[in-house]
Amino acid sequence: MREADYYEKLEGDVVHCLLCPQDCRIRPGKVGFCRVRRNQDGVLVAVKYGRVASYAMDPVEKKPLYHFHPGTYIFSLGAYGCNLRCRHCQNWELSQGDGEDVPFPPERAVETAAAWSDPQRPCIGLAYTYSEPLVWFEYVLDTARLARERGLKNVLVTNGYVREEPLKDLLSYVDAMNVDVKSFSTEFYREVCSGRLEPVLRTVETAHAAGCHVEVTCLIIPGLNDGDDQVERLSEWLAGISPEIPLHLSRYFPNWKMTRPETPVQTLRRARDIAARHLSYVYIGNAWEVDAADTACPSCGAVLVSRRGFSARRMELEGRKCRRCGRGVNIRDR
Ligand code: SF4
Repeated sequence: MREADYYEKLEGDVVHCLLCPQDCRIRPGKVGFCRVRRNQDGVLVAVKYGRVASYAMDPVEKKPLYHFHPGTYIFSLGAYGCNLRCRHCQNWELSQGDGEDVPFPPERAVETAAAWSDPQRPCIGLAYTYSEPLVWFEYVLDTARLARERGLKNVLVTNGYVREEPLKDLLSYVDAMNVDVKSFSTEFYREVCSGRLEPVLRTVETAHAAGCHVEVTCLIIPGLNDGDDQVERLSEWLAGISPEIPLHLSRYFPNWKMTRPETPVQTLRRARDIAARHLSYVYIGNAWEVDAADTACPSCGAVLVSRRGFSARRMELEGRKCRRCGRGVNIRDR
């Protein structure tokens, strides 16, 4: 536990957290909406600093990041807590729960990533993931700083719900992000996630403008965000930033408070076809029966990276170009 960054003290020992747009004013002894930032005698503390609830060496494709060092591993870690409350959360035991976690100081996290030695599948760095790393801000920042000093990469897998100033701090050290844009509807964000759409869009725009590698994921939920117009508007907006940003359309399964049935495969295919009119790289996730994980050259169609499950093989990719036609490809690689 350590004193939080980004807050101000108000009258009567109340604190105002300035980390995310939930804008919590927290009375002594209470926690904010994310449940992991507590007012302790008029001081805001980051409760989960140095505590890790889940960790694993994962393929980078699992984040999902398809255009960032394909075929490598990344040491992935996460803690309890989240600043949204999505009714369909696919990871609610961590995001909404609290239970066992272990001490994991930044030095230990960085050492674990650095010590990995497998020449066939090297570890490129650390991914802050599984629940919401933004509410773990101080730990992520301290660890990312150390990791950068060791020449390791930092990846955020995030809902993007953060204020601009702390985001800019993180962007000094974060090399890649997968941002969940849960829908292109303000009502959806309000009613399903207890948040707002606009700050999430701003995070994607700011991260891309800062030179961070960005990929976007949208979990397609039948009847809620699978309308053609929503997919179209999301894709148009993303293409307006850059048509080269990869979009992952992911299949929803019933979870936590949402019971509606899983997304039909034909819905995902239709959404992919709409998005592909605007974007160069559109993938379908969480649906192994659909063959939509390979990266193809947008100009000549050559398979650049072939994927089966979470393993990836470079095919016609040469550096950051298609070997066959020479087109540049938005892939960051060794
Ligand atoms: S980070 Fe947590 S405490 Fe701070 S404003 Fe967001 S939800 Fe509230």
